[in-house]
Amino acid sequence: MKWSIRLGTAFGIPVFMHLTFLLLLAWVGISHWIQSKSLDAAFAGILFVIAIFACVVLHEFGHALTARRYGIKTRDVTLLPIGGVARLERMPEKPLEELRVALAGPAVNVVIAAALAVWLGLTGRMEPVGRLSVTGGPFLQQLLSVNIFLALFNLVPAFPMDGGRVLRAILATRLEYTRATHIAATIGQTLAFIFGFIGLFYNPFLLFIAFFVWIGAAQEASMVQMKSSLGGIPISRAMITEFHSLSPENTLAEAIDATLKGSQKDFPVIDQEKIVGVLMQKDLLRALAQRGPGVSVADVMQREFETADASEMLETALQRLASCACNTALVASRGQLVGLVTMDNIGEFMAFQGALGKSRP
Ligand code: ZN
Repeated sequence: MKWSIRLGTAFGIPVFMHLTFLLLLAWVGISHWIQSKSLDAAFAGILFVIAIFACVVLHEFGHALTARRYGIKTRDVTLLPIGGVARLERMPEKPLEELRVALAGPAVNVVIAAALAVWLGLTGRMEPVGRLSVTGGPFLQQLLSVNIFLALFNLVPAFPMDGGRVLRAILATRLEYTRATHIAATIGQTLAFIFGFIGLFYNPFLLFIAFFVWIGAAQEASMVQMKSSLGGIPISRAMITEFHSLSPENTLAEAIDATLKGSQKDFPVIDQEKIVGVLMQKDLLRALAQRGPGVSVADVMQREFETADASEMLETALQRLASCACNTALVASRGQLVGLVTMDNIGEFMAFQGALGKSRP
């Protein structure tokens, strides 16, 4: 992300801070300074800023480590004033998994808030009420409120907040994925407009938040508009699942047989349940002309081939197919071959999506 500085790495994930995060830190710092002009208060203010920062990082790692449970890597974590973004390599395959990944962030803040509430409750009885010290009640109480704020704010059902993804995931269990995204993005922009309107009259900080929400929702909405046929659709929803495979010992004559029986052009080659190669039609034709039909598939197949994960996005598959100038990519899920994706079938899928889009009221 532009305007970000690298802070370090945790769990193998680089952590960046967006420069606008400094605005939030400055805002907190300045308001602290204005309220009480002592050194102790300034120190508490700095500690407080660091504590918020730590809670936001933990929130993001809630997402990242939950995603890791589903085998999804996180490219980086970037801290923004509205809570930060964990950039996942891909979205979870199932709506329920997306739901869990989205909820894991706010859940971290809920856990922190609950822990602080319990600790404050226990120690509150021991310490005299009303005693205001730097490291005592007020600091932790403020941190408690910040965590409640972070949890609630991130659950606002608008992109780019977690709530937007939660909403989309819930809608996606009932509706088609692009439709769910579209509805979630529209709700997000409506909310941003309301935030902005309220912010204009009551709180400038809300205006600032509205700006971020509007941008996030607009990005999501334009992605849906521009790539309504492909955007946000996992490969698993469009791949060919009825296909034929060959074994390395098969002859080219058998490959011709398999080609003529169906409409498949390229064949995955499987040896003891492992994908070992792909027999491309162009290679088959060339080998037939040069060496005849008795040659084994193992001698002709490509050993380096494109694979995609079932939960990767169709867009990614299309880009990969275009960049390798090949017709077929193998689709795997947890190391097992589960399907094929070809230029032809992506084209068909887009045509159907387009037709379905027109039939909507
Ligand atoms: Zn989050």
